[in-house]
This record gives sequence, structure tokens and C-alpha cells, in this order.
Amino acid sequence: MLPEIETKSSFEIKALQEKLLQEQLFFISKHSKYYQKIFQQLRIDFEKIKTLEDLQKIPVTFKDDLQQYNDDFVCVPKNKIIDYVTTSGTLGDPVTFAMTEKDLERLAYNEAISFACAGGSENEVYQLMTTIDRRFMAGLAYILGARKLGAGIIRVGAGMPELQWDTIKKMSPTALITVPSFILKMIDFAEKNNIDYRNTSIKKAICIGEPIRNFDFSLNTLGEKIKEKWDIELFSTYASTEMATAFTECRAGRGAHHHPELIIVEFLDDNDKPVKEGEAGEVTITTLGVEGVPLLRFKTGDICFHYTEKCECGRNTIRLGPVIGRKKQMIKYKGTTLYPPALYDILNNIEQVENYVVEVFTNEIGTDEILIYVASKEKTDLVIKIITDHFRAKVRVTPTIKFVSLAEINVMQNPEMSRKPVKFIDKRE
Ligand SMILES: [Zn+2]
Repeated sequence: MLPEIETKSSFEIKALQEKLLQEQLFFISKHSKYYQKIFQQLRIDFEKIKTLEDLQKIPVTFKDDLQQYNDDFVCVPKNKIIDYVTTSGTLGDPVTFAMTEKDLERLAYNEAISFACAGGSENEVYQLMTTIDRRFMAGLAYILGARKLGAGIIRVGAGMPELQWDTIKKMSPTALITVPSFILKMIDFAEKNNIDYRNTSIKKAICIGEPIRNFDFSLNTLGEKIKEKWDIELFSTYASTEMATAFTECRAGRGAHHHPELIIVEFLDDNDKPVKEGEAGEVTITTLGVEGVPLLRFKTGDICFHYTEKCECGRNTIRLGPVIGRKKQMIKYKGTTLYPPALYDILNNIEQVENYVVEVFTNEIGTDEILIYVASKEKTDLVIKIITDHFRAKVRVTPTIKFVSLAEINVMQNPEMSRKPVKFIDKRE
């Protein structure tokens, strides 16, 4: 399942995107209260927006706009809505997304071609290790996608290592869909319970929510730790509710592929101007073919590098590097700018650190300060020194370390309404 357009020339890809853009704009101009208002206020004639370059005449949409005018973004009457989902709300209030029958079909197609990009076929049996309830779009997308691909899927859900291993033993799935750090927990459980995890039916994992690669595409600490113990293929994927689209790696493992028939992607600087290839930019998307909540130039808050060179898999589409971080989570520390994932990578690499939460707050002089809660069997000054030395060497930062128990970390990481573990707490003013 490799869509023909994805191997075509950049010229042909652009032409298709511009045709689909005009269709999406026509639909939006008829049905979106929010964009009707914006077009009117700024005297933008949607019919004059024909090319990807013209798109720059439309102002960007922020998360705040979605939160503030949520209802005005919905383009269909209530009786057309089949499924209701919300954004994860890790930053601010969650936003409601309405999905029509056509949107669900689009979501299924998106996930089917994304699975196929990661080597999936009708022979694959996926073990779904995420939630499908809690108004979560991705869980539903995996089910619809596997069904469209003709693959099997087992809905186990998040956590529960014992049930995960029991499922692997009884049903012989071939691929896991999971947060990659959970694979380490499964390995740990297997080792403690004498499960021969290296000789199972599992051949690969579709990794969601956390990066497994460095910017040069080599595996990061988390990716390496998994591979060292358990030699399965790892595929990174990047997606969000607002995009209703996934960017997934192929076997080459050199960035997550863009599906041009589903979404337009721009990489913008703080002034909403496109950055060059090789520069970090904010992923900004325009959905194509969406009915419920279509978006124009939505700034996702995720900072990424992008690559345009043709991939060895034959696809000629843009690839996204691992997410460097979320714009709002940027930490300014004594002249250095950094993002939480860089800190996680350091912590994942320190043997004595069993688990952690990173907290950022504003100190008396108004600058960012980093406090790291660490669970460790050895609560000694030496361990504190080891941790701070790693930070000084790698990112020129000296965080404060506070020892807490594993149970306390668990409580901090799993607030009631959260669908994924929280590793970053932002207490800045
Ligand atoms: Zn590829």
C-alpha cells in the first residue's frame, strides 16, 4: 500500500496538494465560522489562494484560537458527527474535535498507509498498547487503519505487562504499538518472570509519543536501551489530533514520511516565515479533505528539522526529524536554550536513575530553574554528583536533584485525566 503520488516528482506532489488545497478552502469558506470571520476581517479572497506560496497570505492559527473559538471551527451540523475526540490537553484546556464519516474514512486510510510505510501488510498482527477510550483519536486510528490494511489487531490497552506477555504468548502478534519507554518495562517484567522475550513472535514496534532517535537518526539512549536487550525493529511515528494525520518512518529510519494527499506541512520561524532545510522550524499544518474541524496553517508547537532528499524506500515526500521539543516547553537557562527531550535522553542514560520527573520554575530573579525528581536505589551525594556531571557535560546545565520514591514518581507521572505519562511539569510564571 504505497500511494502512487508519494513516489512522484515534487512538481506532481505540489500540483496535487494545490488542487486539494483549493477544495479544502472552498469547503472552509462555506462552513467554517472561524475562518469566514478571519477572511472577512483581513479581506482575503479564498478564490485567489491557489498555490502553496499563496497560502502564506492566510494568517496562522494558534492553539489558543482553537481553545477560545472551539465551536466556530466545527464545520458540520451535529447529526453529521460520528465520533468526538479531544486533544490530550498536556498544555492548556483540551479542544473538542468532531469527526464525520468521511473523516473516519480519511483517518483509516491515513493509518493504513502509515502502517504500510513501516512495513505492515495484511500479514501483520498488531498488539495495541494504547487506550482507545478517553476521547483519544490515535487509539481509534490504529484500529481503523489495521482493519483497512487487512491486518489483525489485539486491543490490550496501556500498561499491564503481565497481560501484554500473556497476549503475546497466546495470540502471537507480530508488532507492538506502544510508548517506547514501556517496552523497557515489559523487558524488565520478562526478566523478573523468566519469560524468554527474545524468542517471541514480535518483530517490530511502532513507537509513539517519545523520540527514539537523535537528530542524525542514530538511536537515542531510549532506542539503544531497547535494542541492546531486544533486537526488534523500531519505527518512530509523529501525529496529533489536530493533524488527524501520522508521519511514520519507513525501514530506512531516516525521518517520518509526509503523506501529501492528506496534509500540507510548513516549517516556520517565530515570524511565520518558512525556515530553510537544515534549520529548526515549527511544524505548521493545513489539513486536506477534512470535514469536521479543518485547519489552515495551524502551528502545532512542535519544533523539528525537515528533509527533502528522496528516500531509499522510493518515496519522494518530505521527512520530519525527531521532535526537538515543544515550543512552550523551551527552557532558557543561563544563555542556553534547550527542550525537555534533551534532558530525558541524559537521564535515560544514567544507570542509577530508575525514574524521574523534570520540573521547571521561575526563580527570584525571573529566570528558569530546573528541578529533577529522581527515584534511585542509591540516594547518595555521589549519585547527585554523577547526575549533575552528566548535565554539565552534555547541556551545560546544573539542575537541582531531589530524591523521591518510585511510588511518588508514579503519582506525579500519572495525573487522573492524563492519557500518557507526564515527565515534565511547568511551574513557570
Ligand atoms: Zn522512506
